[in-house]
Amino acid sequence: ERMISGEQQQVDQDLELSLRPERLSQYIGQDQVKNNLSIFIEAAKMREEPLDHALLYGPPGLGKTTLASIIANEMGVQFRTTAGPAIERAGDLAAILSSLEPGDVLFIDEIHRLPRSVEEVLYPAMEDFCLDIVVGTGPSARSVRLDLPPFTLVGATTRAGLLSAPLRDRFGVHSRLEYYDTKALCSIVERTAEIFSVSIEKDAAVEVARRSRGTPRIANRLLKRVRDIAQVKGETVISKATTQEALRMLQVDAEGLDFIDHKLLMGIMDSFQGGPVGLDTIAATIGEESQTIEDVYEPYLLQIGYIQRTPRGRVVTPKAYAHFNREVPGS
Ligand code: ATP
Repeated sequence: ERMISGEQQQVDQDLELSLRPERLSQYIGQDQVKNNLSIFIEAAKMREEPLDHALLYGPPGLGKTTLASIIANEMGVQFRTTAGPAIERAGDLAAILSSLEPGDVLFIDEIHRLPRSVEEVLYPAMEDFCLDIVVGTGPSARSVRLDLPPFTLVGATTRAGLLSAPLRDRFGVHSRLEYYDTKALCSIVERTAEIFSVSIEKDAAVEVARRSRGTPRIANRLLKRVRDIAQVKGETVISKATTQEALRMLQVDAEGLDFIDHKLLMGIMDSFQGGPVGLDTIAATIGEESQTIEDVYEPYLLQIGYIQRTPRGRVVTPKAYAHFNREVPGS
């Protein structure tokens, strides 16, 4: 399994629950999103209304689920969670919606994966807090309208572009989470170390932060492994040297790239002189799915400027060549 994948892994689940901040004030970084949300939350509370439906989008592991649960805490309501792929039929969603208490936050992860027939149930529920249900079949079928308690839907997606326009338009709040900078990640590492009751030198925390691909989930996961290695070495305060050694063992390089990133970048450099080359061709060359490259491997490489998307395909940039100490072809 890929150590630095932003995706949630089985081993993460308990870890993430124990590390999840509960209040907006404990949520590190994402200042603009936080400021906007705190105003919307305060206004909704003053009006004694539920918060508007909110759409959170951005790469995996940046804290969408955490933020959704914080919204529920700040509003003082229950947090109910489900995921797009778990709701197969309209009836499944109707059952969830009709069991909500007034004001509840319903979180739907991977909301872009809701089947279209289910989405259609969601429209009147979001707009008018009601459910239109068809009772009976054939000529005797009729539509019955059921009232729902007012609630807040928080949808999360890694790809807002995949959401249908009618669904997207029904969210009053749109918040895009960005990759975290090193300073914010360093604070997250220090906070996590405190929860783990371990001490870490400042420059060791910075080192973990720098190699976490802007992603809190990865920072926490790396810290956990660094802690193990420090413990085996009998180190009471995690040092930078041990951190570097641990990350070397985990095959995470100085920029937080791993063997898959290397395979992708080297593949384009070695087989296509750095590009441009089409996504499907890259996928076939390195034996990965195009979709996985696009959703999981590529976003961070684009963010740090190692790859560029052009109309003729992907290009590896001079910055990436420099990282590998290679000459740009033809330069
Ligand atoms: P996915 O979309 O893949 O479910 P996510 O964006 O919902 O990911 P979370 O599960 O919310 O990510 O967060 C991943 C981990 O990072 C959690 O353990 C959480 O505690 C931690 N985390 C995320 N954001 C922050 C933050 N701003 N401050 C402190 N910890 C954070």
